[in-house]
Amino acid sequence: MRVLFVAAECFPLIKTGGLADVAGALPLALAKLGVDVRVLLPAYPAVHDGLAEPQEVAALPELFGGPARLVAGTAAGGLKVLALDAPHLYDRPGNPYLDADGEDWADNDLRYAALSWVAAEIGQGRLGTWWPHVVHAHDWQAGLALAYLAFEETRPATVFTIHNLAFQGLFPAARLTALKLPDAALSVDGLEFFNQIGFLKAGLSYADGITTVSPTYAREIQTEADGMGLDGVLRGRGEVLTGIVNGIDTEIWNPETDPAIDATYGARRLRGKGIDKMALQERFALEIDQAEPLFCVVSRLTEQKGLDLLLAALPELLDCGGQLAVLGSGAGWLEDGYRVAAEAHAGRVGVVIGYDEPLSHRMQAGADAILVPSRFEPCGLTQLCGLRYGTLPVVARVGGLADTVIDANDAALRDGVATGFQFAPVTAEALGFAIRRACALYADRRRWQAMQRRAMSREVGWAAPAADYLALYRSLAPAPAAALAS
Ligand code: ADP
Repeated sequence: MRVLFVAAECFPLIKTGGLADVAGALPLALAKLGVDVRVLLPAYPAVHDGLAEPQEVAALPELFGGPARLVAGTAAGGLKVLALDAPHLYDRPGNPYLDADGEDWADNDLRYAALSWVAAEIGQGRLGTWWPHVVHAHDWQAGLALAYLAFEETRPATVFTIHNLAFQGLFPAARLTALKLPDAALSVDGLEFFNQIGFLKAGLSYADGITTVSPTYAREIQTEADGMGLDGVLRGRGEVLTGIVNGIDTEIWNPETDPAIDATYGARRLRGKGIDKMALQERFALEIDQAEPLFCVVSRLTEQKGLDLLLAALPELLDCGGQLAVLGSGAGWLEDGYRVAAEAHAGRVGVVIGYDEPLSHRMQAGADAILVPSRFEPCGLTQLCGLRYGTLPVVARVGGLADTVIDANDAALRDGVATGFQFAPVTAEALGFAIRRACALYADRRRWQAMQRRAMSREVGWAAPAADYLALYRSLAPAPAAALAS
């Protein structure tokens, strides 16, 4: 079975969020099941720099306004990458989607139409010698691949995965011809969305199978409240829509071997975690004190992530003796809010504004609990890392958070199955109450440690999700046994 992933970012080459983690780790897990996966990515400068053994496999003299090449290479872990080298579209530094002023690049429609166009060409076997049984497109940037393929006579099976319905890739209808799309595509059954071209809508309309990254999010997005205007489309395609919870790379996220942390530890030897806690308290200029429960946040600072609610619940956290360490960047007003909180509560609240991968590991290792108060959350990865590191998640009961954390209610505690704390509705008050529950349980060392060990024993890797994806591919593109074995 051969599968082409199409994605705009992929860890460790280029990452702004969870999509990159999935595009980097799921192919490796699928490879262990015998699937030959290649990831098609734009060759941003960081992709150029990170790609090992690059080899040109095809030349495209004219691709949406300039020449381009398709380059095969590998990334960490043996990940097979197809980089679309189109300097006029991708040779720009920094965030893949934004210019230096933080605005979307004005030609983002062309940039991701080009990626999708090339995906469709590869899907048709027209570029190089490798062609896939399945084209698996991720998020709006890859959605048009399925539109281009839909108008071909024969085509591979197609899968579209929604990582976040909030980003839909909407552009003026007048761009149809420039994007090499046929007039027929601009219909309600196609990619039209309120008189605009919807890249994500294209994926939803034309894919053979649609997945999203948790069963609860799959249900939520079919409701008016959470469907972001696409709930009707999603209900219409409900028979082919499923939810598969993401995993994390358990080699990169492993407290027993993690090179980024001060002291390694495991479920049966938690002592190192105490050392990591002291190191983290020092890093965030917090009081060095094992008795105070240390909460952390590793997140984009946005309203989606509910981090305004945490600011409002901060008095509760402090009142029950907690400390808070925040790593993140995003909306200016939230960055300012956390800076002000850190100044007002020096020694109890610390903040680092920015994106820092090694520090995110040190936070997972050193904190007692991780807060994820998202208003909506397709899957969420930081709570999975939290489970793996015995850093108990305190989460809103939405999307993938609801599917991955077992609340420490009385029944779950009695049965010995709790792994964290859930709260609903998603309000500052309910969050504050959950924080209080966590603080109370933290004071009971024996129970807290039992919960940590249980959390650390949860299966959060990619093996199970990869098997689910493979089953989906097989149902859409039954391949001969010989091909599966190869
Ligand atoms: P989203 O993709 O919506 O931002 P996810 O929880 O799915 O949220 O994935 C976020 C990923 O980005 C996680 O791997 C998390 O550790 C990482 N991350 C988020 N913010 C930061 C940051 N400031 N520094 C380092 N890593 C971060």
